[in-house]
Amino acid sequence: MLTVEQALEAILSDVTILPFEETHLIDSLDRVLAEDIYADCDIPQLANSAMDGYAVKSSDVRGASKTKPKILKVIYDLRAGYVAKDAVENNQAMRIMTGAPIPEGADSVIIVEETEKEGKDKVKIFKEPKPGDNIRNRGEDIKKEERVFKKGLFLNSAHIGILASLGKAKVKVTRKPKIAILATGDEVIDVDEKMEPGKLRSSNTYTLYSQIIKCGGIPKNLGIAKDKPGELEKKLKQGLDCDMILTSGGVSVGDYDLVKFILAKIGTDIKFWKVSMRPGKPLVFGRLKEKLIFGLPGNPVSSMISFEVFVRPTILKMLGQRLDTRKEVDAVLEEDIKKKKGLRYFVRAETRWDDGIYLTRTAGPQGSGILKSMARANSLIILPEEEECTEKGIRVTVRFLD
Ligand code: AMP
Ligand code: MG
Repeated sequence: MLTVEQALEAILSDVTILPFEETHLIDSLDRVLAEDIYADCDIPQLANSAMDGYAVKSSDVRGASKTKPKILKVIYDLRAGYVAKDAVENNQAMRIMTGAPIPEGADSVIIVEETEKEGKDKVKIFKEPKPGDNIRNRGEDIKKEERVFKKGLFLNSAHIGILASLGKAKVKVTRKPKIAILATGDEVIDVDEKMEPGKLRSSNTYTLYSQIIKCGGIPKNLGIAKDKPGELEKKLKQGLDCDMILTSGGVSVGDYDLVKFILAKIGTDIKFWKVSMRPGKPLVFGRLKEKLIFGLPGNPVSSMISFEVFVRPTILKMLGQRLDTRKEVDAVLEEDIKKKKGLRYFVRAETRWDDGIYLTRTAGPQGSGILKSMARANSLIILPEEEECTEKGIRVTVRFLD
C-alpha cells in the first residue's frame, strides 16, 4: 500500500500542463496565466498630480507660511486627461486637478487647502513644499520593460487591474481541464429521483462537481451507473472526451466493486488502488492514454477528502498554477484523538485563532459517511502514520479548506 506522499508523487509525475487559450480580460478571474507579462509602458505614463492644488516651482515659494504667504500668478487650469501647453515660469502657478500631468517647470503641488485665491488670477500659498510633494512619479507603479507577472499566476482582481492598465485586452491562460464524474452503485439515485427503501441520493456527484469548479476545472456529469459491467463501461466511455474521469464508489473489496475491473478492461493502466490514509483508503489511479482516471471511494467524506488530497493538486498542476492557495499551520489540539497506526489521518476540524495561537478540535463524528462534520469543518487536522494516539495539548498540522 502506498503512503499519501508516494501516491501523490506517482500521480503528479504523470501530469503535464494543459495548452493555453486566449481569453478576454473580463473573463480572466480565477484563471491561471500562461504567459509572462512584460510592461510596454510606464505606469503612471507621466508624472501627475496626486491632489487637487497648484503646480509650482518649490524655489518660488520657499519660506511661505500662513502669516507670510507667497503670491503667484495662476496661468490657467489643467484638468486630468490633458497635457499643459505651457511651462510654469518663475512666480507662476498652474491650477491642477488630481491625475493631470505635471507641467514643465513645476516640481511640486500645493494642495488647495494650503492656498487661497487672490483677485482674479493670483493665488496665495501658505506652505513651503518640498520638491516632489504630491506628485506621482512616472513609472512609480510599473516600469516599462519590467516583468510584471510570471506565468502560473492564479489571477485575482488586482492582477486583472494591472493587466488592464497595461492594455492587455486579451491574456493567455491555461485551458481548463474537462473532468467527467460518474457515480456508481445500485443503491445510488439522483437528487430529483423518487426515494425508495434502501436507496440514497448521490451527494458525491454534487460535491465533486462543485470541488472541480472551485479548482478551476470544467465538470461533466455522466450520471449514475448501476453495478453492472455493461452499464459501467458504456457510461465510462462517455467521459473519454475529457482530460480526467472521476468515478465514485465501487473501488473497495465488495463483490459488486467492479470499477477497477472495468477500468482495466477498457485499457486503463492502473498504477495503484490503495493508499494508507483515513478516510479514503480505497483509491484507484490509472491512465487511459492521455487521460487520468481516479476511482474515488464511495463514502461521501472519503470522496471529498480524496479529491482534496489527490485530485486538487493534480488539477493545479494541469493548470500550471505555481502557488497553492491552501494554508497549513501548526495548531494546538484541544482534545485527544485515537487513531490506527500506519494510516495518515485527515480529521475534519474546526480551527480558530485565539490570542496568538491556533486552536483546533474535531468538527463532529468522523465516520466516513458523515458529511455534516465535513460541512462544519473549516480545516483538516493531518495526523502522521506513526502516531497511535494524539493527545490534547500537542501541536498538530492543520490545513485550512476553502
Ligand atoms: P462503495 O465503495 O461503492 O461500497 O460505497 C461506499 C459507501 O458510499 C456506500 O455506503 C455507498 O452507499 C456510499 N456511496 C456510494 N456512492 C455514493 C454517492 N454517489 N453519493 C453518496 N454516497 C455514495
Ligand atoms: Mg458501490
